[in-house]
Amino acid sequence: MDCSGCNRCTEINCSIDTKCQQLDRSLMDQYGAISFPIYQTATFAHPGLGESTGYDYSRVQNPTRKQLESIVGYLENGLDALAFSSGMAAIATLMELLKPGDHFIIDSDLYGGSVRLFNEISLKNGLTYTAANLSVDDIRPLIQENTKMVYLETPTNPMMNVTDIEKLSEITGEKGLLLVVDNTFLSPYFQNPLDLGADVVIHSGTKFLGGHHDTIGGFIVVKDREIDERLRFIYKTTGAILSPFDSWLILRGIRTLAVRLERAQENALSLARFLKRNKHVTKVIYPGLEEHPGYEIMKKQARGFGAMLTFEVESEEFARSILKNVQLIYFAESLGGTETLITYPVTQTHADVPSETLEKNGINGRTLRLSVGIEGIADLLCEFNRVFAVAEKETAADK
Ligand code: PLP
Repeated sequence: MDCSGCNRCTEINCSIDTKCQQLDRSLMDQYGAISFPIYQTATFAHPGLGESTGYDYSRVQNPTRKQLESIVGYLENGLDALAFSSGMAAIATLMELLKPGDHFIIDSDLYGGSVRLFNEISLKNGLTYTAANLSVDDIRPLIQENTKMVYLETPTNPMMNVTDIEKLSEITGEKGLLLVVDNTFLSPYFQNPLDLGADVVIHSGTKFLGGHHDTIGGFIVVKDREIDERLRFIYKTTGAILSPFDSWLILRGIRTLAVRLERAQENALSLARFLKRNKHVTKVIYPGLEEHPGYEIMKKQARGFGAMLTFEVESEEFARSILKNVQLIYFAESLGGTETLITYPVTQTHADVPSETLEKNGINGRTLRLSVGIEGIADLLCEFNRVFAVAEKETAADK
């Protein structure tokens, strides 16, 4: 890419690692602060009647948020990025592009909050949807006269299914459907769906972009001017904006995105291989393992495999014992931070997903999800050895 118009540096083809360090110079103030200032203001003074500094009211735009939006758009090779108060606020705003009577297609394996939004809010608003396993199913027979959008994650949360974005975009492009990819699991560091034919990218900025489990945020990134204008209008009207301080936290998080993700990915691969060898583990799903059905697609469409992995143990009791006994690893909901989290999808992230869907997707009481952090790998392995030994004892006692 020739990035000579990006208001950052003059180099051609910056690596993504370098891009993470590049502020939009055109937005910097006269002092040149490298840690971009937090413009903690609700409103801005007008120089005169009918005049503006470019900022009038922080719901519409704020310099700190604009700097963040600029870098997220830049990392995703988008035309514009909009920063929201959460990932769900971003998805809820996206859904405002549709109108009553419209139909959309979703992947059947998605973050539970997205499923809840589609079931509890979108249906009430007069939309309908069809769910399919987009990593394998042909969407052509599912497209109706009123179908407007296809929505997916790749890899999916939590079952790590991988969809070929480019292949899908050939169909959505031909049929004039909006292709939306939630890129939270890989972040722009590993994958850029807009380059593969997607129209819209979603992020929970709470996760890898923020990177420290200290803020909640979300993004929509677009490449089309008209869609951008519609979204900007909905955004200023409904108001689920990201605050200046939270914008600054994510700006800071992005500086270390590359090193965090490289290290976390290395740990994830080691853990996946380790778990595969454990006799109590019945399944390990990590797209960086060659036997994963999406491995070749990942190699083609992403720059890495990420730091998320899902595994299944021999019994529900065994899973519960692991959750009770982790010490170095945190038993918590969320992902993408520097510390390793273990999550129990059936009672946490996917608690509101209908049981038939969970069953169909293969999610059950034995399923555990890991967001692998940047700890020393020897310590993570030691923690797992200890926890497995305790679980073995506890579950043997139960028998
Ligand atoms: N998308 C994915 C893939 C997620 O995992 C999540 C949250 O876990 C969201 C969207 C929603 O983001 P947030 O929690 O920032 O609202």
